[in-house]
Formats: sequence, C-alpha cells, structure tokens
Amino acid sequence: MSLKEQLKEVQENIALACKRAGRSPKEVTLIAVSKTKPFFMLEEVYGEGVRDFGENKVQELCEKKEHLPKDIRWHMIGHLQRNKVKYLMDGVALIHSVDSVSLAREISNQAVKHQRTVDILIQVNMACEESKFGVSREEAMALVTAVSALPGLRIQGLMTIAPFVENPEENRVYFRQMKELFVDIKEKNIDNVAMNVLSMGMTGDYMVAIEEGATMVRVGTGIFGERHYSKERENEIIG
Ligand SMILES: *Cc1c(COP(=O)(O)O)cnc(C)c1O
Repeated sequence: MSLKEQLKEVQENIALACKRAGRSPKEVTLIAVSKTKPFFMLEEVYGEGVRDFGENKVQELCEKKEHLPKDIRWHMIGHLQRNKVKYLMDGVALIHSVDSVSLAREISNQAVKHQRTVDILIQVNMACEESKFGVSREEAMALVTAVSALPGLRIQGLMTIAPFVENPEENRVYFRQMKELFVDIKEKNIDNVAMNVLSMGMTGDYMVAIEEGATMVRVGTGIFGERHYSKERENEIIG
C-alpha cells in the first residue's frame, strides 16, 4: 500500500471506532508519528491534510520543524530531559510526556523566560511497566496538583503508552482506567487544569483507545510503515 492509502485506512478506522462508540470523529485528533522518517514522507502526509506530527527526540523535532510548513502542530511525545526543554520553546504545540515536578518546573521556567504558555500532558504509566516512564495512577493527582501551581504551563490532559500486546483488547482495561482518572481529575476543577486531551492509542490499539475515550491517537507504523531499528532500541526510545 502507498503512504496515502495507509493514511486513508487509519482515518477510516478512526471513523469506524468513533461510530461504534457513538462519538464524532471531530473529537479525535490523529497525530502522525514521524520519528526516524524522512522529510518527503512527512510532506506527502501533510499534502493529505494532516497537520499534527509527533516526534520523540528534541533534535529531530526541531530539524523537521525548521524545514516543514509553519502551520504544522508539533507534538513532543518522547521522554524529555530537562536540559533539552529550552529548545522546545520555539513553538512546540503540546508536550505529552511530563512525569515529574522537576521537569514541569524547568518547562515553567523556560516558558516564563520566553513569555509564553506551554500546553502539557501528564504521562501516566497505567500498567505499571518497569520499562516505561510516567507516574502511577496513585501519583497522578498529586503531580497534577503540584504542576498546576507553576506559571507558564497549562495542563491539558493525560497521556499513556499502553503495553505492547498482540491483542489490543488486553489494553482496554488500561484505557478505561485512564478515562476514569481523567474524569476524576476534571471533576476536581483545579485552577489551570483543563483536562481536554486524553492521548492514548498507537498503531496496535488506537481503535480500542478511541472506544474508551481517547481524544488523540499517536500512530506511526500504521501510516509510515515499520521503523528500521531493532525492537530493543525501540523500547529504549519509547521509554
Ligand atoms: C513511536 C511512538 C508511537 C507510535 O508507535 P506506532 O506503534 O508506530 O504507532 C506512539 N507514541 C509514542 C510515545 C511513541 O514513542
């Protein structure tokens, strides 16, 4: 299949999952995860109308951002080191991977310095996997509360990376728990905390994630095809 056809298939699957769940496809944003992929592929997907792209490395995100159209919304979805935060101030749309007060504090400091407000998500490790970043469900509320007090930031919601499974149904329980946590936090009406975005679901499980309430899905392989590095490295990169 061509890139165009693969994208179309993903978009149709999103529409189907929305239909099954009685949701409008307008509620779900597809983020094309373009890490490791060359410019021409991103340009082709852009040509099909996609405006949200996800990268997991600051340097790669910045390079792509510099050379591609300015109306792209860039999503930082990978583990973020504090010393790299400053490079994101020039226009990242959303940082999905905030999982500590110290990281949030650095984003806040840089945001204030650059006189902007940065939208962030709190990353939750719902399945408590050792290999993954993110706070536990129990820690999430405390982190949201602590981060909400920092200037220059706006918490827009939550993000999770579900386990790598053969059968996506196995992840339904984690997506459901994410939605519950999302609603719990929303109901607390904390200042500066919007809870508009629930970023969950990847190539293997985005349809289940949408059925359980995802508002952003992050799809790489399903659009661009396999990435060419070993699985071991992949885990390291996904975190
Ligand atoms: C790579 C990556 C994705 C996309 O994974 P695919 O399985 O290729 O769809 C989504 N989210 C994060 C955080 C990633 O690092």
